[in-house]
Amino acid sequence: MARIGFIGVGNMGGPMALNLLKAGHSVKVFDLSADAVALCVAEGAEACATATEAASGVGVVVTMLPKGDHVRAVYLGDAGILAAADADTLFIDCSTIDVATAREAATAASAAGMHMVDAPVSGGVGGAAAGSLTFMVGGTSAAFTMAQPILSAMGQNIVHTGGAGNGQAAKICNNMILGISMIGVSEAFVLAEKLGLEHQTMFDIVSTASGQCWSLTSYCPVPGPVPTSPANNDYKPGFSAQNMLKDLHLSQEAAEGFGASTALGKAAMDLYENYVSGDGEAADFSGIVNMIRKS
Ligand code: NAD
Repeated sequence: MARIGFIGVGNMGGPMALNLLKAGHSVKVFDLSADAVALCVAEGAEACATATEAASGVGVVVTMLPKGDHVRAVYLGDAGILAAADADTLFIDCSTIDVATAREAATAASAAGMHMVDAPVSGGVGGAAAGSLTFMVGGTSAAFTMAQPILSAMGQNIVHTGGAGNGQAAKICNNMILGISMIGVSEAFVLAEKLGLEHQTMFDIVSTASGQCWSLTSYCPVPGPVPTSPANNDYKPGFSAQNMLKDLHLSQEAAEGFGASTALGKAAMDLYENYVSGDGEAADFSGIVNMIRKS
């Protein structure tokens, strides 16, 4: 069993760290939020006062942070965790961030004599709690092989997507589809309401017809049909609208940089921009149905 440092134990990182504990690993945790740390300590994790403390004296470090800026701040520089860790430590960054930062961190890790993979996830907080996440893993084959037994304690589907940064590439493409499909499902439910269709009837039909998708069957944006969806919990995240907006910015930046035409991705980004700057600042991304209903 490994000794693991886990940095960023929020909505996703918290339950992921608990699954590492359940698998028998020993886990040290650090987060800026004392409450998030306390939840892990109650289940057997050791609290650390700093990120560098969490990254020292362990064989593996897992990070689950909001954005590329956080990853840079935590990993790089004299005060970063790459400088503090023991030689040969394996770093697994599960945050969803831009490809360029992922590649920069991997290069810095290699220069410091470490191993690193970018391993963003799909599956949401439900998948994090159930240990059924999908990991999209970018890095060398050797680093992927080292990461596999750790990732298998937190997920079921672990895919090597290529070299450093390719995990992030797969993730931002997936989430562009997710943002577009959530808006599509939400628009269809609002139209169905206006046409006099019950939510459950609409769900029963579409979930077995060609409009079926994850945004409908696992994360239905209206209350009722999928009891675990945030719509039944006052649209509390879940996967926040802010994080969806972040990911749509990442896919648009990549599309512009690499010359891909993503008109629907751009439209989805603009709609989430409106939602986050209005009622959706603290809401789950499926709450966009409420903005669409009001427009
Ligand atoms: P979150 O805000 O709940 O958790 C992030 C945690 O990082 C917070 O607890 C925060 O205090 C901590 N943090 C920030 N800066 C830190 C620092 N310098 N040192 C230590 N801790 C720090 O967010 P989340 O929902 O857990 O998302 C984390 C990442 O996972 C994001 O990149 C997100 O896009 C991605 N993701 C989220 C979901 C989801 O459904 N929530 C699904 C897939 C991927």
